[in-house]
Amino acid sequence: MESSFTSTVGLQLLTICCILLFVWIRTEGRKSLPSLNTENIWCCSICTYVYIDAKDDLSTCPRCSSINKKVEE
Ligand SMILES: [Zn+2]
Repeated sequence: MESSFTSTVGLQLLTICCILLFVWIRTEGRKSLPSLNTENIWCCSICTYVYIDAKDDLSTCPRCSSINKKVEE
């Protein structure tokens, strides 16, 4: 019984470690992303996929390869 309890706690600790590692990688990855000032956030008009592209007039959707036009706000 005791060994079963220990392995359960160990598994939970391992899961928590994995989650923390995953969150850390995501946070670090976000920091190393290039500045958003020079890049534009695009939302595909065909598949509604949101992505970042440096172009400011026409951009190709990485998911469905359709050409998107920049919508002026
Ligand atoms: Zn698309």
